[in-house]
Amino acid sequence: MTIGVTHGVSLMGLAGTLVQIEVDISDGLPHYSLLGLPDLALMESRDRVRSALVNSQEIWPNKKVTVSLSPAWLPKSGSNYDLPIAVAILAAQEVIPAERLHRAVFYGELALDGRIREARGVLPALISLLHSDVQTVIVPQANAAEAKLVSGLEIIPMENISELLKWLRTGIRVETEEVISIEKVNDFKDLSDVAGQPDARYALEVAATGGHHILMIGPPGTGKTMLAERLPSLLPELHEKAALEVSAIHSVAGALKERGLFSKVPPFISPHHTTTRTAMVGGGSSVIKPGACSLAHNGVLFIDEAPECVSGVLDALRQPLESGEITITRAIGSATFPADFILVLAANPCPCGRLSGRGRGCSCSSLQVRRYLNRLSGPLIDRVDLRIKVEPPSRTAFASGEVGESSAVVRERVALARARAAKRFATLNISRNAEIPAFALRNEFKAERTGMSLLHNEMDRENLTARGFHKTLRLAWSIADLAEHELPLLEDVKRALALREGMELFG
Ligand SMILES: [Zn+2]
Repeated sequence: MTIGVTHGVSLMGLAGTLVQIEVDISDGLPHYSLLGLPDLALMESRDRVRSALVNSQEIWPNKKVTVSLSPAWLPKSGSNYDLPIAVAILAAQEVIPAERLHRAVFYGELALDGRIREARGVLPALISLLHSDVQTVIVPQANAAEAKLVSGLEIIPMENISELLKWLRTGIRVETEEVISIEKVNDFKDLSDVAGQPDARYALEVAATGGHHILMIGPPGTGKTMLAERLPSLLPELHEKAALEVSAIHSVAGALKERGLFSKVPPFISPHHTTTRTAMVGGGSSVIKPGACSLAHNGVLFIDEAPECVSGVLDALRQPLESGEITITRAIGSATFPADFILVLAANPCPCGRLSGRGRGCSCSSLQVRRYLNRLSGPLIDRVDLRIKVEPPSRTAFASGEVGESSAVVRERVALARARAAKRFATLNISRNAEIPAFALRNEFKAERTGMSLLHNEMDRENLTARGFHKTLRLAWSIADLAEHELPLLEDVKRALALREGMELFG
């Protein structure tokens, strides 16, 4: 008997590692052993592989079968090794030729009847193989469209194990009709749907320009969600590499279909305030899956009724807000996912939600109001540059039927403003105004003299903390970029201060 050798991929986060599968079949009592740090799902591969082979009229060796996965130190999880294990078992029995196994990778889970099930993570697995000497990858038919986003590898989608074995033995492929649905591209909600709300619209434009995080405070029904949902439409379309990265994350989460294969729109993810820490930042026991903050990578993470969030969930966003990525460590290993997003938080002005304008009908005590908003204080809120109040749209704006600017018009302005900023940052390792370091704001990125005096005066009067000073200045840069000013003028600084009016609610 020979040793059957095939290859699969181990995926940890978005990082794939080539895994070699060796099968040895020797005489002795029927026995199956699996070596190389398999998890429970992988241990169960024996039963799936055996049923799939037997039900596909192949022979299961009633002998001593040893399956070894290497590198041995790498923890291996999940069921995507079924396919390479099945093929290696047949190769060890010399019932398939070894030639097509050379420089080929098999990826997929087997159903008991021999079907190859749709898999998670096909896209990042393939991307990780791009710089290896792998030539051919066999993937589940259901993942064919996703797999073909990657060029540079021969992708062979297969429906079931019989089809696969026919190809391995004869080189003949059952032609499956290529069904690649062209999903709607650039399907987003448009800013022109928003009636009135000039201040909030402008705040979104500034947020999109500088990548500033934003907190919207207003009573229910003022359109906070409607506004937040339109922020992605103001951001520049994702370039190819960024779009592929977003798709890869969604692939691992099994959410690529909802996202749309060819979407270049920055994602919009809105976890409910009852969401768990794992759902927010990622986790899991057998496979580490990305959380909402990674699904929102290169886009927008919106949390409505943020003060109602389960304790600790918002704090868990600290790491991604600081570093643009999140590392999750579990018994099976640790995975890092990108998580660079614009955070949009929405909150009612008080627990009952009626405290606005003249505070009609609000029965909350001032202590209750303070406690409620204090749930948003701390390191997370420190990273939020924009804090605006959202009031119900004025009746005149609502009744006039006047249509505001469309997303396309605003997006154009944002793109020009971002280009101005990019030129300025040519020698720095940053790309957005929200990232300007504090020391740079006090040196090469100062506002015009009168603007700086205004900020210093505000600090002297204790209207502004040192941190608030830096945030206001970052905002002023985005405002200046939008207004095509060389540097923030006094009017830009004043406007920036106005965009932080929500501050006073935090005392
Ligand atoms: Zn109230």
